Amino acid sequence: MLIAAILRSKGPEVVRVAPDATIALLLTELARQDIGAVVVAEDDRVVGIVSERDVVRALQRSGPELLSDPVSAIMTRDVFTCSTEDTVEDVSEAMTLRRFRHVPVLSGGRLVGIVSIGDVVKSRLSVLEDDRAALEAYIQGRRA
Ligand code: AMP
Repeated sequence: MLIAAILRSKGPEVVRVAPDATIALLLTELARQDIGAVVVAEDDRVVGIVSERDVVRALQRSGPELLSDPVSAIMTRDVFTCSTEDTVEDVSEAMTLRRFRHVPVLSGGRLVGIVSIGDVVKSRLSVLEDDRAALEAYIQGRRA
């Protein structure tokens, strides 16, 4: 299955913040949108990604003054992205090996979506479920 299939069902929406947005604003977005990571973008260009884990670690290091710092102070700059033509299996493997749960999707250099570990697991389970149903139907057919 391709990443494009996940985006067809969940849509292209990606929550973004600017690098100079405050961490307080980032927290508002994470809570309001009920998500775990936000893409940091500048004029439609992905310049980083920041997840709830980054905030937790930085809060532990710096304390509450952190909230007025810019998102750029804590974001990960080397963003792993995928394309709509990548397979769900490959992206799932990269997430497991690299230990992150969010991957922005680019097409022709443009941000066209984001997939989370939850989206990937859901899609893989649905493929397994279809395979199981097909095998069951095959076995029933041979018994009849
Ligand atoms: P997450 O599992 O998404 O909460 O992220 C765990 C750590 O990996 C955090 O430091 C994130 O900034 C970083 N991270 C998350 N997604 C990506 C990504 N696609 N590319 C690079 N780093 C990432």
